[in-house]
Amino acid sequence: MTENNILNYVNNQWIVSQATEFVEVINPATAEVLGRTPLSSKAEVDTAVQAAADAYPAWRRTPPPERIQYLFKLKHQLEANIEDISRTITMECGKTYEESRAEMRRAIENVEVACGIPLMMQGVISEDIAPGIDEIMLRQPVGVCAVICPFNFPGMIPFWFLPYAVACGNTYVVKPSEKVSLSMQKIFHLVEQIGLPKGVLNLVNGAKEAVDALLDHPAVRAISFVGSTPVARYIYSRGAANGKRIQAQGGAKNPVIVLPDADLDMAVRITADSAFGCAGQRCLATSLVITVAEARHPFTEGICDAAVSRVVGYGLDAGVQMGPVITRQSQHRIEGAIQTGAEEGFNVLVDGRGAQIPGYEAGCFVRPTIISDLKPGSQTARTEIFGPVLGLMHVNTIEDAISLVNSADYGNQASLFTSSGTAARRFRYEAEAGNIGINIGVAAPMAFFPFSGWKESFFGDLHGQSMDAVDFFTQKKVVVERWPKEWTRKF
Ligand code: NAD
Repeated sequence: MTENNILNYVNNQWIVSQATEFVEVINPATAEVLGRTPLSSKAEVDTAVQAAADAYPAWRRTPPPERIQYLFKLKHQLEANIEDISRTITMECGKTYEESRAEMRRAIENVEVACGIPLMMQGVISEDIAPGIDEIMLRQPVGVCAVICPFNFPGMIPFWFLPYAVACGNTYVVKPSEKVSLSMQKIFHLVEQIGLPKGVLNLVNGAKEAVDALLDHPAVRAISFVGSTPVARYIYSRGAANGKRIQAQGGAKNPVIVLPDADLDMAVRITADSAFGCAGQRCLATSLVITVAEARHPFTEGICDAAVSRVVGYGLDAGVQMGPVITRQSQHRIEGAIQTGAEEGFNVLVDGRGAQIPGYEAGCFVRPTIISDLKPGSQTARTEIFGPVLGLMHVNTIEDAISLVNSADYGNQASLFTSSGTAARRFRYEAEAGNIGINIGVAAPMAFFPFSGWKESFFGDLHGQSMDAVDFFTQKKVVVERWPKEWTRKF
């Protein structure tokens, strides 16, 4: 960083952006300005893409077992620096230190899984599909690929894609969220240590102009996006119109069903962690609970107690369970959504507005909030609030609960709390969401499973992580081979 400015990293060199506009990176707990993200221009994106394009032919020819040696080195660098990066995530993003550390563990896990690429990107061969003729399917890299990231997991989300892309032989450009660009800056200082050939991994900071430049650049062959649904839809359509592969993960409104036969203490504890962890700014945060029959009163009582007793403060302070939301604007938007709930006639059982945290008066805090008796189809029941606000609904049967889940626009995650295997199987079978939890509040797929959003939560075909990532970052080539007849006849 120069004078608190965030730099780009292109061709293994740190570059001062020529940007004239900047976005301040602000610690949302203390209001301290931590840095300034340059809004890089189209020309600066072009330079990074060109570097990646120049690096591609040699990188593609580097054998996969050699390519993954860089990932082993990256894993060791990330392990050795996990505390420093986690502190940075907490400072720029607000979540607690433990949450930041857990985020980085997930990032590292993806690097580990991508080290299996020599096996994962193997092709297949069928001998003698006709006399003396063989057919082969090879996987080859796609070319220059890029990722566009949201603010809420600045350390982890790029790693749902980056290690697989690079291990498969592609070259890469990372565009972090302009609100939280420090974590990737630190991570690229580690990338600098692992000795990758120049141009293989590049970092460009910016916002809309940089994103549009990636979407329109003819040399960029595939783009991964994670962020809000309107932007995901935009990325998907503009990128696809330009002939690129696109995977675009969007927003969410994740429901949980609580049946009367559930372990209610566990359901309350896990749902509170899911709804209020990371201040509700997780795409897998529970934001809606549907209680069934007599689960209603004990669950409502328990979750209200859990909301009131949650320790809110600065994520670097010991004992804090929930940090601030990302910006003042977010705080006001979330408080506005709580007001909308009240105006829609619902009961705000626990009201987190106007939070004052001693010692952090300038912070962007909203305390855990519970709004009950939501009506299906209301704004509060449908809209992603992306803050520590949990809505409650009530029905009498599991059928009604599942149809409420399936009436939602989003399909990122749905969970069920029960002790009945029959109910669990039915839910798993019928629920229209791509990530399912059974007695689990944050059903985040491990790196060796795809991160499977559905409906308005995902635009594309192949998800991030695991074999889906290998499919996304490789193109299949089929070869049909015949060799001289004399040789075949010999046998
Ligand atoms: P966002 O959509 O505002 O921004 C994401 C990225 O898009 C940023 O890099 C930003 O620079 C860029 N961008 C924003 N507006 C743009 C525009 N008009 N044109 C081009 N680029 C634009 O999202 P956010 O607020 O950073 O992140 C929160 C959202 O991300 C929530 O909706 C959350 O649910 C979602 N999210 C989804 C997942 C998932 O796996 N589905 C994971 C994490 C976050």
